[in-house]
Amino acid sequence: MLGNIKDEGIILNVKDFRENDKKVDIFLSNNGIITAVAYGAKKSKKRFGGNLDPYNLGEFEILSTKKGFYLKEVSVKRIFTNIKSNIVTLTMLFNITKLIVKVPSNNKMIYKALLKILMKMESSNLDLKYYFFFLIYFLKKEGLFSLCNCYFCNSHIIDKLVIKNGQLVFMCKNCDNNIADLVDLQEDELSFLISCLNLDKNFERIKYNEKIFYKLEMFLIEYIREHFHLTLEKLPKIKANT
Ligand SMILES: [Zn+2]
Repeated sequence: MLGNIKDEGIILNVKDFRENDKKVDIFLSNNGIITAVAYGAKKSKKRFGGNLDPYNLGEFEILSTKKGFYLKEVSVKRIFTNIKSNIVTLTMLFNITKLIVKVPSNNKMIYKALLKILMKMESSNLDLKYYFFFLIYFLKKEGLFSLCNCYFCNSHIIDKLVIKNGQLVFMCKNCDNNIADLVDLQEDELSFLISCLNLDKNFERIKYNEKIFYKLEMFLIEYIREHFHLTLEKLPKIKANT
């Protein structure tokens, strides 16, 4: 894709580069994650204005050459201001960025999921379910979850999650056997997982108890560490009494 690219995107990272320039990681909605050089961005604030901040949503014009990508123009469509004042949101974004930069995806659905989580984080009611949805959905897109049927008999009525030959698979009650290691999840934790994997329409409406996320979080961190050699931060516990 040499030549001019015009695309909507979300800035993930901005770093100083050489004396006058910056390097910007951008998740483009149609072109995936790229790193573009922004000439003069460090030296002159005017060049790109205040537009080069992480998680800004914008329209980007980028020159694609054999040597790499060069940022020509940015027009910001939305600046998310609230996300930067909350330690939990920042941890989530830090983790998500680490994950999508380490495992670059040219997947439009992942882009949309990121945009959605930014919108949700920006609104005042922080709901952890969107973060865990993102992680589970991402792993699904990477092929790290089996279908939500019993691996052995294809039944839709799932009772547990097990590890078989290093792979996570679902299992029904009837196929109970001891060839696989059981993943220790309660019914509500399992049902949250399945809702995310099935893109359950009720997901938006359901108010999940935050308790269910703590065990899921440990399990997801471990699974991501094993597969991508990447360690995500645990979220600071926000509401101790839930
Ligand atoms: Zn079965």
